[in-house]
Amino acid sequence: MTTVESPGAPPAWRVLLSYVRPHRWALAGGALLALATGATGLALPLLAQRLIENLSADRPVGGALAVMTVLMLANAVLGGFGAYVLHRTAESVVLTARRALTSYLLRLRITAVDRSEPGDLLSRVTSDTTLLRGMTTNSLIGLATGGLTLIGTLVMMAIVDLVLLGVTVAVIGVMAVVIGIIAPRINRASKRAQEAVGAMGTAVERVLGSLRTVKASGAETREETVVHEAAQDAWRQSIRAAKWQAIAGNLSGVALQAAFITVLGVGGARVATGSIEVGALVAFLLYVFYLMSPISEVVGAITGYQVGAAAITRIQEVRDLPSEPPATTAPPRPAAPRAAPAAVAFHEVRFRYTDELPEVHHGVSFEVPPRGMTAFVGPSGAGKTTVFSLVERFYDPTEGHITLDGRKLEDWDLAELRATIGYVEQDAPVLSGSLRDNLLLGAPEADEAAVAEVLRTTRLEGLVERLPQGLETLVGHRGTKLSGGERQRIAIARALLRRPRLLLLDEATSQLDAVNEAALRDTVAEAARETTVLVVAHRLSTVTSADRIVVMEAGRVQAVGTHAELVADNPLYAELAATQFLATTS
Ligand code: ADP
Ligand code: MG
Repeated sequence: MTTVESPGAPPAWRVLLSYVRPHRWALAGGALLALATGATGLALPLLAQRLIENLSADRPVGGALAVMTVLMLANAVLGGFGAYVLHRTAESVVLTARRALTSYLLRLRITAVDRSEPGDLLSRVTSDTTLLRGMTTNSLIGLATGGLTLIGTLVMMAIVDLVLLGVTVAVIGVMAVVIGIIAPRINRASKRAQEAVGAMGTAVERVLGSLRTVKASGAETREETVVHEAAQDAWRQSIRAAKWQAIAGNLSGVALQAAFITVLGVGGARVATGSIEVGALVAFLLYVFYLMSPISEVVGAITGYQVGAAAITRIQEVRDLPSEPPATTAPPRPAAPRAAPAAVAFHEVRFRYTDELPEVHHGVSFEVPPRGMTAFVGPSGAGKTTVFSLVERFYDPTEGHITLDGRKLEDWDLAELRATIGYVEQDAPVLSGSLRDNLLLGAPEADEAAVAEVLRTTRLEGLVERLPQGLETLVGHRGTKLSGGERQRIAIARALLRRPRLLLLDEATSQLDAVNEAALRDTVAEAARETTVLVVAHRLSTVTSADRIVVMEAGRVQAVGTHAELVADNPLYAELAATQFLATTS
């Protein structure tokens, strides 16, 4: 994952406020409750003083006791409710951030996904967003309540004596400068700690994603070391952040003691010269101690802000990745009656995956009319899969252009373009969920009759009968494991259910046995009567019946023709045909 800081990145507080905005009233309510709790707490000593006075004067104390009891109850209820409201709001802020981030992840361009580690992205959605909780409660609330009390106390100090106020502010100012120096360190260490959590996610995902291979290679211990090192690194950076946080937190105590001593010295001198009364000095010293709690709240807000800001930087890094344009129209209903088949053409397409990588297509041109089957053949790495990725607009050509129905792909609404196409990618996955979920992924409205029909044509009826809960059986990651051939037939069924105008099959039948392969060949031939079908072919048998064959080699189209024409004219094709294509997978 690239960690470029974009120069125009908004400051963390602005990002936080954008997540907080939907919950601002709840947050304001929580802050008010916190202030009210504080006020009821502050009133108690005054009442206690009154009570003691009444007691010693032999006056009835029932009234004061009753008021105190009510205030204590109010303090407990307000405090509890306020804490609940604040935490609830902070969790809502986390939810808002998670929703925004996951929506964004699903719309990332494939180029961005290619360059990212899924485990790291996952840690940003789960772990970094969690840090916004503390940021909301500590920094926003701490700053609001602590800040208000601080201002209130400073105002009281100003009423008592301006000179002593100046002394206090100067001492606190020195502390503020030191915290200003420490704060970025907390931010950096915190960011590194979260990066280490991301790296750990990457390491865990890598191992769990290939656990069979790791076990078969006897690599558990070595892989364990990689994960442990990442965990250790997160620990190291976290305690570094904790160290700076502790220093900053302690600093407020030190500063207040320094202020106390200085005020005592300066104040003593002012009392000696008769500038102020002793009572005023005592009152002022008391106020210096009153500063303790708001200052530590504000310092906590500043350090908490740094931790949250580091998380926000990592969240924003995802939002800086290129994403696809939002759909301008609702995707047309894929399950509607099959529309006219599509025509596809490549015009001098040049393409490289990234600037650093060599060019993959060096001027690819071909035309596919509506209807019929076109096969792409050629050695592994020739650029066949890339042709399909470009048609789906997972990537855009660096030069040249591609048209669908004579219209450039850029001029299509992306959702509409993809709704036109049924794509079975090479090694198409089965998603975790039921078999039905998998089939309906691209055609949620398809009816039972359509599902039954596609199960028949892709020869999945037997599988459905064998599965314990039929179509509702869980398959994929957490469910019943399927064979490679079964997975491929599910992927083809999924694509056919979309009733696409263009069907792309990338080595979609490579793992089928001969009987199923022959059956699926008939199904595809049947589809090709009403749909434009492009296949990357694995077996000679699939290719011979194609209406046209595009021979690709090293990013170029070498020849286009029928099987008979190419066997006669094209040495590469003749050679591939002689070996039955069996060596050209992937
Ligand atoms: P084929 O399907 O004909 O075997 P591909 O289109 O998959 O070939 O790949 C063509 C070239 O592009 C290969 O050299 C491959 O390594 C490279 N390539 C494929 N996919 C990517 C990708 N996502 N990022 C970078 N390079 C890629
Ligand atoms: Mg391929």
